[in-house]
Amino acid sequence: MSIVVLKLPNVKRKTEVRPKECRYCEGITFQRWGQVNKPVKDIRVRNVKVYRYRCCRCKRTFRYYPEGNTKADQTERLQLFAVLLWTLGLSHRASSLILSGLKVTLSHITIWRDVQREAEQVKKRNHWKPVRVLGLDGANVLGWGEKQSVLVAVDLGTGEPIALGYINEYDPQVVRRWLAPLVQRHGITVIVTDDLSSYKIVAEKLQLGHQVCQFHVRRWVGKALQELQETIPKEWLWVLEEIRQLIKILPPDGSRTLYTLWKQLPGRHSKRNQARLALEQLRDLLLRLSQDWHRYCTFQSEPEVPWTNNSTEQVIGRMKMRARTVRGYKSWSGMQSGLLLAGTCTT
Ligand SMILES: [Zn+2]
Repeated sequence: MSIVVLKLPNVKRKTEVRPKECRYCEGITFQRWGQVNKPVKDIRVRNVKVYRYRCCRCKRTFRYYPEGNTKADQTERLQLFAVLLWTLGLSHRASSLILSGLKVTLSHITIWRDVQREAEQVKKRNHWKPVRVLGLDGANVLGWGEKQSVLVAVDLGTGEPIALGYINEYDPQVVRRWLAPLVQRHGITVIVTDDLSSYKIVAEKLQLGHQVCQFHVRRWVGKALQELQETIPKEWLWVLEEIRQLIKILPPDGSRTLYTLWKQLPGRHSKRNQARLALEQLRDLLLRLSQDWHRYCTFQSEPEVPWTNNSTEQVIGRMKMRARTVRGYKSWSGMQSGLLLAGTCTT
C-alpha cells in the first residue's frame, strides 16, 4: 500500500521526555508547569497525560504532547485509520459508523477533512519527485460533461498518480499547456497513452518519447481488419493477414514493410464527396500504421517503458470505485484530492 498506512502511527499515553527546544524562542531549559489529562479520540486510547512546560529563557508556557498526539482531538493514528477506511471504499458515513463500533465518535465531516489533509501530504510528497515515464489517460469518473474529462497522470515507475486535470483531452493545445509544467518539474522523458491524435501532437511539441498502448492498438486495428475482411476484393485479403502478423510481432522495420504494402495498393478513385471504397480504407490504414509505427515500439529500446497503459487504467479503476462519494464534493479541488488519494491506495 503506497500511502504508508500499513503501519499506523504509535500513540503514547504519556511521555517523560522533555521538549528539546522552546516553541517560541531558542531556549533549551524548562520547568514543568503543571499537567492536564487530555481526552482524545483514538481506537485504543481514551485520554493522555500532557505536561505543560515553562521556558526559562522567554518565560512562556506551552503544552508538550506525547508521541502520536497533537492539539487536535483525534490522535494521528485515528486520522490515518479513518482515511484508510475511506480509501478502502467506504463512504464517509459508513467509515463514521465503523468507528462508532469501536466506540469512537467521528463525524463524516471530520473524516472528509482527514482525507483532504492526507491528500495534501501525498501532493507535497510527489511535487518534486523525479518521474521518467508518465502514463496519461482520460477518465469520465465524475459522470458529468462530455467535452471535459479527468486527465490522470501516473508515474509508471511506481504506479502512483502524480496529478489530475479536469480538461478536454482531445484538444492538443489544452493538453500541452497542462502537461508542460509537469514535464519540467518531474523530468518526464516518455509518455504512454492511447492513440488519440492530441497525444501524438503533444509528444512531438514537447519532444517526448511516446509509447502507444498496444492493447488499444490491437483492439481498434483488429476491428478495422475484421470489417475489411468482408468488404475488400478477395485478391487483397493477404494484406490483412500481413498486417495482423506485423501487429502481433511488432518488428522494428514494420514501418517500411507497411509503406511498401501501401505503395502496392491502387490509388484513390472515389471523388472527394464520395464515401471511400474498402480498398481505399485499407490504404489509409496502412499509411496511418506506418506513420505511427515508432510509437508502438518505444518499449523495445527503453526497458523502463511498458508496452501498455495498464497501470494508468488500474489507477483509474480505483478512482472509479471512489467517484460516487467524491461527486458529492462541492469543489474540483476537493474532488481532485479525494480521487488522487483513492488512486494512490493499492491494496
Ligand atoms: Zn522560550
